[in-house]
Amino acid sequence: MRILPSPGLLAAIRNERARSTGPICAYLYDLGALTEHVRATRAALPANCEMFYAIKANAEVPILGALAPIVDGFEASSGGELAWLNEHAPGKPMIFSGPGKLDDEIRQALALGIELIHVESLGELARLARIAGDMGRTAPIALRVNLGLGSAAATRLMMAGASPFGIEEAELAACIAFIDGQPALDLQGFHIHSLSHQLDMKAHLALIEIYLDRIAAWNAMYGRRIRHLNMGGGIGINYRDPDDQIDWPAFTAGLSALIERKRAQHLALRFEFGRYLTCASGYYAAEVVDLKSSHGQWFAICRGGSHHFRTPSAQRHSHPLIILPRDRPPAPDDRPAIFGTRVNVVGQLCTPTDRLAQDVPVEELRVGDTVLFLLAGAYAWTISHHDFLRHPPPAMCFVEASLPIEKETADVDAIF
Ligand SMILES: *Cc1c(COP(=O)(O)O)cnc(C)c1O
Repeated sequence: MRILPSPGLLAAIRNERARSTGPICAYLYDLGALTEHVRATRAALPANCEMFYAIKANAEVPILGALAPIVDGFEASSGGELAWLNEHAPGKPMIFSGPGKLDDEIRQALALGIELIHVESLGELARLARIAGDMGRTAPIALRVNLGLGSAAATRLMMAGASPFGIEEAELAACIAFIDGQPALDLQGFHIHSLSHQLDMKAHLALIEIYLDRIAAWNAMYGRRIRHLNMGGGIGINYRDPDDQIDWPAFTAGLSALIERKRAQHLALRFEFGRYLTCASGYYAAEVVDLKSSHGQWFAICRGGSHHFRTPSAQRHSHPLIILPRDRPPAPDDRPAIFGTRVNVVGQLCTPTDRLAQDVPVEELRVGDTVLFLLAGAYAWTISHHDFLRHPPPAMCFVEASLPIEKETADVDAIF
């Protein structure tokens, strides 16, 4: 997974600087790095696994375009996302999840030829049966199960346990009995998305082992031969230590061994990853417009802020970044600067919560330099409150291809 910017991406930042009349502020997406990462991620999966992309992580059109030839399909969590996919990624299989599906959204999904609807409650199941019946259609469904995992799994973002997501195991019998009397419902599988931010490969394999045991138990209990199991997304990104990401080849090797040990080759296993696919290929660039000291701490104020890039405040972390010194500084260079110290990187909003990075060691930082936030390609722009303070939006740059790795300069700063 490429985390540092490619020469192509750095060139796009230089272009943005040349093009911009004021301080720059931009999201940049490296489509070459994205394609490479997603292709390698998909290729390493065992033969009976599929990989969908959960588009709420980032649904920019060029990103969907880059992913469409690689992923097996897309996951939507609203009618808006279904319509977006139908417009921008037509022809790819779509699945529909999420609590609180409206009747109109269910109709829309069925009319669009949805591959599977992940049903989140008994009430939703009843509505779906009525709507599909009225439309004269059969609804292909998977039951989303909310497992009581107890201490078997824990991350910072849990969907399993007391939550609006999925159906408790204790209610499965009632769901299946209901489905049996409903010709408009076609139960094809189970769906389990228990958590996000998973960074522990062994813990994730242990979780999948529980899922495989449960589907075998449900098939035995309810006299079914259900072969489809959606195991959700949830692979995390380590923002605190970007060099230490999940060991994907080791995870997929462990998964292959697990599938063999559990004799689960006959199952159609599906993942629907979000963050892990798009996070690393996105960058948020913000130019430093002011540097000031306040009560013993330095602050770098950048063009932009959490109204564009809410990820650090949503995750309550200091976001990883690199500094790109300004090319061709004016001579003499009289811009305010700090040397060999620590700095808080903030945006332009009138709220103390607009902090993007904290206590970052810097050798040299000047007004006019660009702070480049790494790992900004998922749950970033779309989760931000764009209209707050009515600053202009960032530029959106999509960089088509990376240069071959051999041609790169090791020292990023040296390019500028
Ligand atoms: C958000 C979501 C995902 C993707 O989760 P990531 O942690 O981004 O991989 C997958 N499935 C469902 C049902 C989701 O709601």
